[in-house]
Amino acid sequence: MANLRYLEKLDLYLFVEAREKYFTQKLDDSFKFNFVLFSIVTFVIIISIIINIYYYQNQKKLERLSIQDKLTSLPNRTYFDFKFDKAFNSSRKNAQELSVILFDIDDFKYINDNFGHLVGDKVLVIVAEIFRDNFREVDVISRWGGEEFIVLLTGVNEADACLLAERLRIAVASNAAVMKFIKKSLTISLGVATKYDNESKEDFFVRVDKYLYQAKHDGKNRTVAFSNYSEKNHS
Ligand code: GH3
Ligand code: MG
Ligand code: MG
Repeated sequence: MANLRYLEKLDLYLFVEAREKYFTQKLDDSFKFNFVLFSIVTFVIIISIIINIYYYQNQKKLERLSIQDKLTSLPNRTYFDFKFDKAFNSSRKNAQELSVILFDIDDFKYINDNFGHLVGDKVLVIVAEIFRDNFREVDVISRWGGEEFIVLLTGVNEADACLLAERLRIAVASNAAVMKFIKKSLTISLGVATKYDNESKEDFFVRVDKYLYQAKHDGKNRTVAFSNYSEKNHS
């Protein structure tokens, strides 16, 4: 880069020549340094975001697995207990009705013994689907264990819970997919309990167990609740 200027007072021409690179070199160096620094920081941020997302997803997956039954994908007993305790405590405060339907597949051992364990598993998966389809999002359904399932119904009285139980019993018995596997209709026995005022959690579960036991004892494929339970038969 060259520059020519006339200095009148001295009657002189001033000719200045400067190497451009000499002035821009520092600028170039600083730009390069900033660019590299920016790239490194951006890279580190992106990597840490990816690691965090991966870690968070894994955590979520683990949390889900710890409350989900592997075979049926229904919530498991741990989840049910957690939800039940919360509902139980708030039902005391709000005087809200709380009902539970506990059901057990009839003669399930016969299915395993005659059609194999894999068919038994398939039947459990189908029953879980029927179960899920017959209740609302707010109802807490769960695989209680083995071939037993449970649902918690908040704000539902005994009469309505019995209607829901019977609807489920009929839905299972008339399911074509199950019939295809076991060559006959599948039956379930159900116990329905609605919480009494001031009843403890333990007493409540003893009661629903008792009703289910009577349903089995009376010939299976039926629903038993307080209204059709006869204490004298089981004392
Ligand atoms: P009841 O009508 O009195 O309920 O008789 P049951 O044969 O249904 O009941 P029992 O308790 O005699 O047998 C239940 C069987 O369920 C025994 C157990 O091996 C089987 N079982 C439990 N969990 C699973 C599972 O995840 N898959 C399969 N295939 N079978 C299971
Ligand atoms: Mg059974
Ligand atoms: Mg059982």
